[in-house]
Amino acid sequence: MKKGAAMTSRRSFLKRSGTTLTGVFGLGALAEAIEGRSSPYGRPRLKITAVRTAVVRAHGDQLHVRIETDQGLVGQGEGTDAVVGGPPLVASFARFLVGQDPLNVEALFERIRTAGIFAGAQAGQYVAALSAVEIALWDLAGKALNLPVYQLLGGKVRDRVRVYCDSQTNSPADPKALEKIAQIKELGFTAVKIDVDDRNDPARWDMVNWTASNAEIDTMLGKMAFMREALDKRTDLAVDMHGRYDLTTGKRVAIEAEPFKLLFLEEPVPAENVDAMREVRESTKTPICCGENLFLRHGFREVLEKRAADIIMPDLQKCGGLLEGRKIADMAHTYYVPFAPHCVVSPIGTMASAHVCAAVPNFLVLEWHWIGRLPLWRTIVKEGEILERGFITVTDRPGLGVEMNEEAARGAQAPGTTWFAG
Ligand code: MG
Repeated sequence: MKKGAAMTSRRSFLKRSGTTLTGVFGLGALAEAIEGRSSPYGRPRLKITAVRTAVVRAHGDQLHVRIETDQGLVGQGEGTDAVVGGPPLVASFARFLVGQDPLNVEALFERIRTAGIFAGAQAGQYVAALSAVEIALWDLAGKALNLPVYQLLGGKVRDRVRVYCDSQTNSPADPKALEKIAQIKELGFTAVKIDVDDRNDPARWDMVNWTASNAEIDTMLGKMAFMREALDKRTDLAVDMHGRYDLTTGKRVAIEAEPFKLLFLEEPVPAENVDAMREVRESTKTPICCGENLFLRHGFREVLEKRAADIIMPDLQKCGGLLEGRKIADMAHTYYVPFAPHCVVSPIGTMASAHVCAAVPNFLVLEWHWIGRLPLWRTIVKEGEILERGFITVTDRPGLGVEMNEEAARGAQAPGTTWFAG
């Protein structure tokens, strides 16, 4: 007889016995207690006992969430960018989590999300804080089931996840540019991204309006030419405009950048006007990418329906977490749109993103933003360096498969914050 069948018949026997013997042995109550405590995954049902937060300052502030259970298992997650109000938000979510089974990730996520529909749960800080919680729940689920998170997301379609380096340099005006580019080459990256928006460009005539002058556009194109020349021909180049410019500038830059055959041009206009993004896309051969400031599937629906982007880049530590990220990727896949997540977080969040990138068919490339913080990057998890020659091999260890090195992380604790209190 199978184990499940044995358990069922034992339960029904205990229940039947309970009907007649309750008065003598209390077996009915015992049967209910066994049912309440047992789980289908070979261990007593887990129960969340505490939810704690800490904030690390690296690329801005990163919100680290720790979820504790009654069996000593601890899950960790990371949120980013829109996490200024993270710790109090996560504290407010605790009432939906404590006492619950952490393996019901979708149910807990939906409960918190729908509880906040009048409190900003459609986007922003609420969803970014929820993303960190969701990732910690997946870490716990993997540890409880002794499986890597990618396995819980449908399994792997690739072992290695390609990563691009945000270069932190872009111009011969930077005296250290060649040194930094040599370091990027040495690390073996196959793709690099540069920023070309410059608030302080001396050719800007107005500090509020973002219509670029001819001179500003020449400077942007000069940066692309410099990097294109400095990098190996087979290394892809992506360019970010950070959604700062107006439509006329966005179109001009996208069209004039065509000779550089960019991997993508990111947010030539702000992401919130989908029609404007589509107008840029339709005007040019340069692939247009957007999405680091969009939230949940709902944020990406119109972009995909209106064919406003060639590539989407949700931030999984911000847009709703790992399963929401997988769902966004799947939506994009039905439009044949590749998925290139934004990512600026520590190896904890980066490995979390890598589990999703390994599991979705339409993955293109994952961001990495730590070239200027290598010592912290290499020590902030106990496993050390997770990047090798511009790729992350997704780990087979249970859960996310990386654990915080408390001492290194605490060295970068954001001033004025508490450390996993609560
Ligand atoms: Mg960006």
